[in-house]
Amino acid sequence: MIPVRGYNGTTVAVLGLGRSGLAAAAALAEGGAQVVVWDDGAASREAAEAEGLTVRDLTKQGGFDGVSALIVSPGIPHLYPEPNKTIAAAWAAGVPVDNDIGLFFRSYATGDWDRFDVAPQVVAVTGSNGKSTTSALIHHILTEVGRPTQLAGNIGRGVLDIDPAIDGEVVVLELSSYQTDLARSLTPDIAVFTNLSPDHLDRHAGMGGYFAAKRRLFAEGGPERAVIGVDEVEGQYLSNQMMDGMDPSRIIQISVDRKLQGPGWNIFARKGFLSEYRNGRQAGSIDLRDIIGLPGAHNHQNACAAYAACRSLGLAPKVIEQALHSFGGLPHRSQQIADQDGVRYVNDSKATNVDSAAKALAAFKNIRWICGGLEKEGGLTGLKDQLGAVRKAYVIGREAASFARQLEGVETQICTTIQEAVAAAYQDAEAGDTVLLAPAAASFDQYDSFEKRGDDFAEQVQSVLKDA
Ligand code: ADP
Repeated sequence: MIPVRGYNGTTVAVLGLGRSGLAAAAALAEGGAQVVVWDDGAASREAAEAEGLTVRDLTKQGGFDGVSALIVSPGIPHLYPEPNKTIAAAWAAGVPVDNDIGLFFRSYATGDWDRFDVAPQVVAVTGSNGKSTTSALIHHILTEVGRPTQLAGNIGRGVLDIDPAIDGEVVVLELSSYQTDLARSLTPDIAVFTNLSPDHLDRHAGMGGYFAAKRRLFAEGGPERAVIGVDEVEGQYLSNQMMDGMDPSRIIQISVDRKLQGPGWNIFARKGFLSEYRNGRQAGSIDLRDIIGLPGAHNHQNACAAYAACRSLGLAPKVIEQALHSFGGLPHRSQQIADQDGVRYVNDSKATNVDSAAKALAAFKNIRWICGGLEKEGGLTGLKDQLGAVRKAYVIGREAASFARQLEGVETQICTTIQEAVAAAYQDAEAGDTVLLAPAAASFDQYDSFEKRGDDFAEQVQSVLKDA
């Protein structure tokens, strides 16, 4: 645990009692604060009380009396579609609102700086897609080369739950837009921005607000090194804003769209090859095509981002290359779960939106595509141009028939359940095919989470292959 600094002897309120809220409460108490907590759900309040936490109704008149800060969990809206009423009450009472990420940056390693031979560093990863994969990949590479490292934030442990800093350590943080939007301190040594596509627009009042939230990680005077995906205009703009004529190595631009030429430090992947150029000269090159854990251009983007972060930490291209080969991929993200009789079975249950499903569809050939579920706004229109490699779609979900109607020009079979879809795809599949679960939809019509959906897919695949 990282004891929170700066609140010793004061009262701090925590709103939202999920994983990060409870960790924040414990870390604040460890740092000497008096903690009061609140959650809009009665069950969470009761559980907190049973754990010995002090529950206080912060929305009541005088609820914020004597409170020096309100720490908010990422799932709670602070602005759009409308501010949670406890947050509005904190504003009215003049109490600063922050989150666990802000507390972390103010508390990690600061006072103990003197005792380190090699100062610990923080790498923070944000972007619309690929955050988890990129963060896990950086963590994996560092582990493989024997650097002390911890993975936290949206993936791994809550930020305040990690162990105190040690010499030469690298903390890798995955940060969502909700987290970067609210944090009052954001001072990573290396900041990574993978890409940007529309998501969570209700929480940010549109694309501009969403980008603004992510951009905060790169605020003026920000990270020493910025790794920026420049395949969208937002990344190009950000890179230009960060540019410092005096120090062209402050930014590493990454792309999977084009060969990045020109001055500065550039890393790009094309046709399965990663290239690193510094000031027009090639500095490294890696063949990514055979890396099972990183299929497709989208994963090559993640590989570029992780490579850039690790180069910034002083690792050589060769050791990074070796470590990329032993990365198994994350569960539910283009994860190969079986390869039998020339047919691959790939679980990308995390492809809950059209954009991530499009990337998965672009990563494979001869696809038997299991798709469908709870549809997101805009339907499947964004997938029209991505269906060329699909041999047949096996549509699941309660609304399978209406989902299937949108897949014009593709052979479809209404299967409704994953069990039926896997059985049908298995029957149809020929050597060279890939059976791919990439639903382009949320799972909640049939499952509690995308993880449960992916687990079910893996079980059904194991079961048909066992009986084969
Ligand atoms: P995040 O943590 O940002 O949600 P993940 O690594 O968990 O990202 O991947 C989420 C989904 O997006 C998965 O379906 C995955 O296959 C896909 N994906 C992974 N990396 C990228 C990328 N760089 N660009 C687009 N889609 C990606």
